[in-house]
Amino acid sequence: MKNCVIAGINWGDEGKGRMVDLLTEEYDVVVRYQGGGNAGHTVINEKGKFALHLLPSGVLRDGVVNVLGNGVALDPENLLREIADVESKGVAVTPANLKISDRASLLLPWHRELDELEEKRLADRKFGSTKQGIAPFYSDKYAKKTVLAGELLYPDRFASHVEELLDWKNLTLTGVYGAPAMTGEEIRAWADEYALKIKPFICDTTEFLEKSALTGKKILFEAQLGTLRDVDFGIHPYTTSSNTLAAYAPIGAGVPFLKIDEVIGVVKAYSTCVGEGPFVCEMTGAEAEKLREAGAEYGAKTGRPRRVGPVDLVATRYGVKMQGTTCVALTKLDVLSYMDKIPVCAKYEIGGVATDRFPFPAALDDAKPVVEYFDGWKCDISGARKWSDLPREAREYVEMIEKNIGCPIKYVSVGPERDSIIVR
Ligand code: GDP
Repeated sequence: MKNCVIAGINWGDEGKGRMVDLLTEEYDVVVRYQGGGNAGHTVINEKGKFALHLLPSGVLRDGVVNVLGNGVALDPENLLREIADVESKGVAVTPANLKISDRASLLLPWHRELDELEEKRLADRKFGSTKQGIAPFYSDKYAKKTVLAGELLYPDRFASHVEELLDWKNLTLTGVYGAPAMTGEEIRAWADEYALKIKPFICDTTEFLEKSALTGKKILFEAQLGTLRDVDFGIHPYTTSSNTLAAYAPIGAGVPFLKIDEVIGVVKAYSTCVGEGPFVCEMTGAEAEKLREAGAEYGAKTGRPRRVGPVDLVATRYGVKMQGTTCVALTKLDVLSYMDKIPVCAKYEIGGVATDRFPFPAALDDAKPVVEYFDGWKCDISGARKWSDLPREAREYVEMIEKNIGCPIKYVSVGPERDSIIVR
């Protein structure tokens, strides 16, 4: 398939990075179309173990061109740090394999600062922000109070535009939060140390992608987070500040005229969720601890322990539909191998009524999981490479999910390594 989106179906951390890493072999270009460095993909391959935050996962594959589209929160400081990190492991990042859209907005130093100040103000009512400045960034982007990356190529305009925004932003920093004003000097130092260094990567990526498509190149669109974090259709307000849905990919990537041929939805064989907000299927106590340990469920960016639960068929069915998913990749099936009986959240009960429809966010507060149990397989499946290598119980578990979400499960992942995969 030519143009393919890889999207998270649930709360994020489904293992998208691992799927993009696997599939980049078949693609010429990988584009990130939304989000910033606030989440992370962990990718393990023959080059080592990588925690990627903003860089598209295709940087780890020779010959793949990677694009950061206009929809991303472009944080030059984090990006340069990430480039240095992958380069220290022998992966070269050059203008030949990384292209930054001239229309991407820059995440500015005050965005991170404002994130911190707001979380402090909220104190115990906080949303669990990663404090990477993402919410203030997107607010400013839609208020047209950001600088486009391409302006770095017009130094006079860049300098005066940033100066203007600084004056405006200082009103908020000092007047609303009582914080010290940022100085022009600080901002110029930031520009010299970080922003100007990304100049060689900036270009008209729409033109590049259009040419790529016209010459038959295959394009993979990579999302961050998952359906339930989409700003419009997720668990508002515990969402991210951008659209994580596949339908947004052509816009955030800079090619609104391209048709998406395939959407691969990534689902984990159980559920995890980072941060605050409703998580209906959540497990607690020793049972949760065991699953968290088995799946090594600690945030790639923050190291925070993730909340865990059984696979949630209600949320997953919703996620599959909203993404326009054409096939599913089920990851981390191997993690469930220790369980005698595997719990599954089959429905929600809201006000005494069972439902299999994912509700409006406010109704989630009273939703309770209806849990059913399936037989476990109780053996190591990490060496399975063919569908028939899996024990009957594991196949039945996968088929049960497939039937309930109404979408074919084409890939089953049984380990973090590139080749630990079953393609059906
Ligand atoms: P992403 O942001 O959606 O890419 O997800 P993360 O990278 O945060 O989480 C996926 C984690 O699970 C990474 O540490 C992967 O190496 C690991 N992983 C991915 N697939 C599998 C799998 O099938 N089995 C196991 N055991 N680990 C996996």
